[in-house]
Amino acid sequence: MTTAIYPGSYDPVTYGHLNIAFRAASLFDKVVFALAINSSKKCLFTLEERLDMIRQGIAHYAKEKNLNDSNIEVTQFDGLLANFVMKYEKPAIIRGLRAVTDFEYEYQMALMNRYQNYQVDTLFLIASLRYSFLSSSIIKEIARHNGDYKKLVPPYVYGRLWEKFNNQSRENGKV
Ligand code: ADP
Repeated sequence: MTTAIYPGSYDPVTYGHLNIAFRAASLFDKVVFALAINSSKKCLFTLEERLDMIRQGIAHYAKEKNLNDSNIEVTQFDGLLANFVMKYEKPAIIRGLRAVTDFEYEYQMALMNRYQNYQVDTLFLIASLRYSFLSSSIIKEIARHNGDYKKLVPPYVYGRLWEKFNNQSRENGKV
């Protein structure tokens, strides 16, 4: 059984992430969204919120595109990714590549993961053209300024972002 481990911080999950995960799900027996607990990134959403949004996002994407999501799991991990993946049968790390700007960082990470554990390979899927301009950071930026991003994230994620920024502005006395 082959397993694709899809690591990230998913703060929050977007259609770009989901597109990669479902494409991997048709190539591997199992896909595991692996949310990094110890990411150095400062996140807007808590771990629980991010896990919840990934789960809801998967269900929505599957329903909307009439795809099977029974081989996609969601989990969290702490510590080295190169160690964590060994919990699974025939694991490979998968990552999405948007543009050359992603390449340098991904190249370094893939080599470092193999340096940590020579059994671990990283496979890259090229981002769908529809979503290649998307990142969690840009979505948060647009949401913060009340821009249009409704079609770029699942409805549940849209709701959570709206809530987050609306409540924040209310607390800051801006609403
Ligand atoms: P990290 O915190 O490790 O950078 P992210 O949560 O931002 O991870 O993203 C996880 C993975 O999803 C990365 O491989 C990233 O390149 C990929 N990804 C992010 N946005 C998109 C997108 N719009 N299309 C395809 N892949 C994407």
